[in-house]
Amino acid sequence: MTLSTMPPIFDGHNDLLLRLYLGETTATKVREGGANTQIDLPRAHKGGFAGGMFAIFTPDPPGETQGVDGMMGATYDLALPDRLDPDPALRAAIAQVSHFLELEQTGSIIACRTAAEIDAALDKPEMAAVLHLEGADCIDADLRSLHVLHALGLRSLGPVWSRKTRWAEGVPFRFPSTGDTGPGLTEDGKRLVRECNRLGIAIDLSHLNEKGFDDIAAMTDAPLIATHCNAYALCPHARNLTDRQLDVIAESGGMVGVNFAAAFLRPDGQMNADFDLDVVIRHFDYLIGKLGENGVGFGSDFDGATIPRDIADVSGLPNLRKAMVDAGYGEALMKKLCHENWTDVLRRTWGG
Ligand SMILES: [Zn+2]
Repeated sequence: MTLSTMPPIFDGHNDLLLRLYLGETTATKVREGGANTQIDLPRAHKGGFAGGMFAIFTPDPPGETQGVDGMMGATYDLALPDRLDPDPALRAAIAQVSHFLELEQTGSIIACRTAAEIDAALDKPEMAAVLHLEGADCIDADLRSLHVLHALGLRSLGPVWSRKTRWAEGVPFRFPSTGDTGPGLTEDGKRLVRECNRLGIAIDLSHLNEKGFDDIAAMTDAPLIATHCNAYALCPHARNLTDRQLDVIAESGGMVGVNFAAAFLRPDGQMNADFDLDVVIRHFDYLIGKLGENGVGFGSDFDGATIPRDIADVSGLPNLRKAMVDAGYGEALMKKLCHENWTDVLRRTWGG
């Protein structure tokens, strides 16, 4: 197998919509290149990045954003950001949906609502894009906005980012720490999960604390999915999954997308891009060992994190794929890791 025949990559998580929302790039730059982001269409073609989950994410209010500087020490424990008011969070979410629509109208993405649509889009020049909500801060108690977002194409939702919501509580950016950092789902949170199950919206366990994780595992028959997390055994960060959690995911037939954020990969937990791709391979190896060859994929966090210098942006993905082939991953396994496992688990979750 040569690198030029590598299978296309469908990825579990990116934050390009946030970059558009913050005015750091435009739909024109995404289509034509020249953007100061980690994803645009020309570089996606170069890297074999065929698409993924595009997250809606409400940032902290201006001036309250936590930078990566806080994740450079030997240990750290960033405070959980304040809970957001749902109304401005909904305005931010709707604005990001409008950017998603604009990317589709200008030929950068194909919005996908089924696994068959993802499969069909993988070989097209546009990126296959599934609309995801990272942190349900914008959803109202009556779940009306959930239904509206579902009608607009939302097919995946994480109840929390690293802040409290009406539904649950996320883990802080804390190292070293397990994810057992707070209470589980609220009664409202259980209602949200049940409604997502009913609507066929995948639930993303990334960012949830361990009690919230266990609450969802106990109440859903859907495969358990963590779109962008790594192995706690290799990097003891609160954002990573312990062996016990990986066993629970494996039992459900679920999967984990490997996150490229430096702080969740490096054994020292530092958000510093200066390290070798062997570190990423070790997480792939470990997760495949725990979850099997059908339980692992990509969960890059492009445009939301500090990425290893030898990847840097989507055009650097061939370097990682070469490292995977050099590590002995054969053609069938590469196909699974690059996209088949994602389309398979989403097909089982969504039903078709
Ligand atoms: Zn995230």
